[in-house]
Amino acid sequence: MVAEFIFVGTELLLGNIVNTNGAYLARECAALGLSCYYQTVVGDNAGRLEAVLTQAMGRSDVVILSGGLGPTEDDLTKETAAKVCGRAMYLHEPSREMLKRFFALRGLELTENNWKQAMMPEGAIVLENENGTAPGVILETEKAKIILLPGPPNELCPLFEEKVAPYLAGLTEQVIYSRTVKLCGVGESKAETLIKDLIDAQTNPTLATYAKTGEVHIRLTASAPDQKSAEKLLEPLLGELERRFGKAVYAVREEITLEQAVVELLDRQGWTLTCAESCTGGLLSGRLVNVPGVSQVYREGFVTYSNKAKRKLLGVKKGTLKKYGAVSAETAEEMANGAARAAKADAAIAVTGVAGPGGGTEEKPVGLVYIGCCVNGKTTVKKYRFSGNRSKIRESAVSAALTLLRSCVMRQAGEV
Ligand code: ATP
Ligand code: MG
Repeated sequence: MVAEFIFVGTELLLGNIVNTNGAYLARECAALGLSCYYQTVVGDNAGRLEAVLTQAMGRSDVVILSGGLGPTEDDLTKETAAKVCGRAMYLHEPSREMLKRFFALRGLELTENNWKQAMMPEGAIVLENENGTAPGVILETEKAKIILLPGPPNELCPLFEEKVAPYLAGLTEQVIYSRTVKLCGVGESKAETLIKDLIDAQTNPTLATYAKTGEVHIRLTASAPDQKSAEKLLEPLLGELERRFGKAVYAVREEITLEQAVVELLDRQGWTLTCAESCTGGLLSGRLVNVPGVSQVYREGFVTYSNKAKRKLLGVKKGTLKKYGAVSAETAEEMANGAARAAKADAAIAVTGVAGPGGGTEEKPVGLVYIGCCVNGKTTVKKYRFSGNRSKIRESAVSAALTLLRSCVMRQAGEV
């Protein structure tokens, strides 16, 4: 089955916004096993939209459009699609009710043009949108299935996952089943190199890598007549990835996060954890506390931003700070050891670095981060050089800290 995309919006055409929906839909449809040969960006212009839609319907089985479903004059995707398919518009009562509820709930006043969003082409399948006022629309024609989705990504993505993906899967009478292998401590290009042969040879299952901050996710997707046979198809590939990546694999399920894997690992040992954070300023603790049940493992942590705090709360020596500086392997080590001591924890992880944008020097540039990890009295320190803006550097430091912690705990627990 061949799918193609049309992105509607003059803002996109002028480069005022980035077409993230393009990357998203392409990725998702590829994972569903659809072939995608064309993407078009077109402005808010009925004539030109009509032309590209007609062309797309002539060469693809599924045409997905994003944007232009709003209430204003320049939102004309639905009307244009109806015209191309020769369908009249009618007032769709459930959407009208939904609109009323949406506005009442938020204490907003409905204006006359809002009702436009409840007008639907005859015979359309209407997809209720829980995150906005524009429902999604599916038009089934002889030539192609046409799927209209709202432009805002926070509306388009959930609508796609919850309603469109199952619809597309249903078209082929095949079950689409995915598993995700999650890796930490390996870069995307390294990961891709290690599985290049598998990517080149992929048919069913397919596999794709996704780079996340400090992580790589590999999604495997199989299509089969039923779930059991799809799972069976995935098994050998899952096993192969686990063999190739070894302990870098922290989860083989989409819903498990890195912090969750780390907390579960500590919990299995019955070990407690503390954090000492300088440049991450609590971000690492925040990630850990995302995990329900973390209280078994994590009881207290330290945000020690200043030198004084590092000395007072963690017992970092004045001489160390003076001789090596706050951003140094020596300070990271003393922070980790001091935190473990002060919190009486089995494991401690300490982060100190230059998050920028200011404060960098030639010797200690922005993005330089040291992470110390003390597990059962044995301390490891690693040096990192991250890039990006302040928040990217801090997020990278948190991922690296979780990764280092995981590997130190595994080593001490004999789980390697
Ligand atoms: P609305 O009801 O908000 O008007 P809409 O379906 O009419 O939604 P547009 O008016 O085309 O959608 O776009 C609304 C906003 O959605 C844009 O300002 C932009 O922030 C976002 N958006 C639209 N298209 C894309 C895209 N292809 N990629 C990323 N963001 C997009
Ligand atoms: Mg709009």
